[in-house]
Amino acid sequence: MRPNLTPDAPPPAAQEVTPEIEALVRQTIGAELRRAFLPEFAPGENLDLVVRTVRNIYIRLVERGHASDYWRSEAPPDAVPPLWATVAKSVDWLDTKNGTGDHETAMRLMKLGEEVGEVMQAYIGTQGQNPRKGITHTRADVAAELCDVILTAAVALHRFTDDPAETLDHHAERVGRRIDQIRAW
Ligand SMILES: [Mg+2]
Repeated sequence: MRPNLTPDAPPPAAQEVTPEIEALVRQTIGAELRRAFLPEFAPGENLDLVVRTVRNIYIRLVERGHASDYWRSEAPPDAVPPLWATVAKSVDWLDTKNGTGDHETAMRLMKLGEEVGEVMQAYIGTQGQNPRKGITHTRADVAAELCDVILTAAVALHRFTDDPAETLDHHAERVGRRIDQIRAW
């Protein structure tokens, strides 16, 4: 039986931790609390204790975030989100093949324009706006092109800051605070 690890779930029945449950706990922490420190659980540990521990970590992270003693300042290398892992690969590849001069910087910015154009092309394709072509794209195509825009912007961002992920997080936090202020009026 898979335990419910959400904070408001009822207390679990007494049960020992199986490898499957251990994997689920790790997956939960890994997916939702990517940077949380996970205590080691002894084999055969009481499930109730494990679930309570995970909930406690969850609640403290939600309540205290960076201030929580469960917060890891450095995510382990295998926990780099796919976005930044892919972008780092792309940047490395482009730097090696094309160099890092001003011309290459301009090209990476121009590439962003190309990708935005592909979003428009895909959306027009979902609407069948060209009667000769009819409907040529799906909403998933538009979503994929939007993802290309994000990836391409993240690649270009590397040319203007030494820590693109931190720059993006910081910027997003600022924008989030501004929205909160506006909504509080
Ligand atoms: Mg594209």
